[in-house]
Amino acid sequence: MDNCVFCKIINGEFGTEFVYENEYAVVFKDINPKAEVHLLVVPRKHVESLNELDDEALLGKLMMAVKDVTKKLGIKSYKTLINTGKEAGQEVFHLHIHILSGQMHF
Ligand code: 5GP
Ligand code: ZN
Repeated sequence: MDNCVFCKIINGEFGTEFVYENEYAVVFKDINPKAEVHLLVVPRKHVESLNELDDEALLGKLMMAVKDVTKKLGIKSYKTLINTGKEAGQEVFHLHIHILSGQMHF
């Protein structure tokens, strides 16, 4: 998708480091962390938000990626968050799951 910052990150246009990746998703650090650990789990496929997602299996894959990356990094306690829609605080319209752990900054 043109002009989508997360699609550009996935395509390697910004040289963003992936802390985890698989066939379905990439995980990278949030540029403006709201917690000691703040990661974003992002599907490789462009889907605007949870409202536009019709692929049940992909949702499962994304949640498994949450489990896999937290296990890989030794993160035992964390929150997950999906902002859906502008009024709920969604700023990037490419579906993503926030992983927040440690001291929170909000
Ligand atoms: P949203 O508010 O849409 O749920 O979350 C978008 C998140 O993406 C924000 O926490 C924001 O800091 C992060 N973000 C926006 N642009 C970039 C970027 O270019 N690189 C990274 N690593 N994170 C970004
Ligand atoms: Zn995108």
